[in-house]
Amino acid sequence: MSKETIKIFDTTLRDGEQSPGASMNTEEKIQIASQLEKLGVDIIEAGFAAASPGDFDAIEKIAQKVQTSTVCSLARAIDRDIKAAGEAIKQAKLKRIHTFIATSPIHMQYKLKMSPSEVIKRAVDAVKYAKEFVDDVEFSCEDAGRSDIAFLKEISDAVIEAGATTINLPDTVGFRMPHEIAHMVKELSTYTKDRAIISVHNHNDLGLAVANSIAAIENGARQVECTINGLGERAGNASLEEIVMALKVRGDIFGNFTTNINTKEIYPTSRLIASITGIEPQPNKAIVGKNAFAHESGIHQDGVLKHKETYEIMKPEDIGLNTDDTLVLGKHSGRAAFKDKLAKLGFELDDEALNATFERFKILADKKKDIYDDDIRALVTNEMTSAPKIYELVSLQLMDCSNGVPSAAVTIKKDDNEIIDASIGEGTIDAIFKTIDRISNLKGELRDYKVKSVSEGKDALASVTVKVSFNKEEPAIIGHGLNIDTMVASARAYIGALNSYLSMQGKLRTTHTSH
Ligand SMILES: [Zn+2]
Repeated sequence: MSKETIKIFDTTLRDGEQSPGASMNTEEKIQIASQLEKLGVDIIEAGFAAASPGDFDAIEKIAQKVQTSTVCSLARAIDRDIKAAGEAIKQAKLKRIHTFIATSPIHMQYKLKMSPSEVIKRAVDAVKYAKEFVDDVEFSCEDAGRSDIAFLKEISDAVIEAGATTINLPDTVGFRMPHEIAHMVKELSTYTKDRAIISVHNHNDLGLAVANSIAAIENGARQVECTINGLGERAGNASLEEIVMALKVRGDIFGNFTTNINTKEIYPTSRLIASITGIEPQPNKAIVGKNAFAHESGIHQDGVLKHKETYEIMKPEDIGLNTDDTLVLGKHSGRAAFKDKLAKLGFELDDEALNATFERFKILADKKKDIYDDDIRALVTNEMTSAPKIYELVSLQLMDCSNGVPSAAVTIKKDDNEIIDASIGEGTIDAIFKTIDRISNLKGELRDYKVKSVSEGKDALASVTVKVSFNKEEPAIIGHGLNIDTMVASARAYIGALNSYLSMQGKLRTTHTSH
């Protein structure tokens, strides 16, 4: 019997971006989309084109770049949204419009203030209009989890007739138990048969998003919507890596199903998303958490040493986690060794990016004896995802940190001009950021500041993530900085956020739409 493929619909760039504070710049989104394509996701939901010019722009660039995954934009069931979605994905090789309207009594009555028949009419009109742009149209019954099954069948009939090819049943509020999702999906999939693919989109408010997705697959769903690291609104979405590895590890039960995911790309994808969003998975997170493959107890360690399978149900290599990090680079490593290492880590850089990263590697190698995989990963990610360098740090001078008034003098390059200024602050970091504000003439408000060591040891690289609000009406901007010196990394992170802000000016969204 041939295996059935479960389509993996990744919404990290849309629902995941709605995680509080996870807004990304266009370069970062393109980088993530390329990695998702390499991971093998079937559909990349690249954003919500009508939300803002920035979203539109990012979707359009992703559509131009991605070749093998379908590129999708979300759209409310209104013409303006659908038109924006259709235009943003126009150049994609494979494209889909995903339109939605709420179908639960509570949403129809209080949010939409529409009767069920008006909702059906709006849904049908939306699908028909979307068909003018693409063949592949997904329709979502927002809050399907709390909708009447009879109504879900009725609206499915209507939208399929209008041309929808996928029907998505989101548990928008994360309320349902696995047996309830199983029942809903079975009812709809046996009803619609091969007229459409049934999909689910589960939220994790009760910690059941993955369990609900698996229950859906067992009952006829052939597409699951999910995100890397389980990012998403509130408690997040079903985590892609958990669903995929559950199907793989339990091949004894799910042997009839397969996915197009290359599981060895799971870990690199998870690291990329964590470093870009600044949101680290909890250490005990299944599959990709820092401790997911760590054996602390002596009894367990003993067992694993004697025979791995005593306590391990899957291998770290299965998700692309390289535990055997023996090939360490250093000062004397040449360009070829560096390039070889990048290839092993799964990075393909064009010559320009390779040269830039190699330069940074040499500077780092002068200061740091051993350079580990995580250092390289951080270096490359930092290089590839940074916004255009409008401002660039030249040097940093700091004075008096413990007694007296901390002050900073900062030299920054802009259009080949060097600008120098100085300021005092409540602390050293504050003094640095205030000086940068003086130079840029923009007042940034620091919302979050995180510092993390990339690898181990006293000479470890410091990775600093800041969230800065330059305009109260718009979302805070994330900036990253990497250096062996935490203060330099902090200055770079702040300048990174500033560059992102300037490159996205006027393109930021002020509203969020979800389901
Ligand atoms: Zn959602």
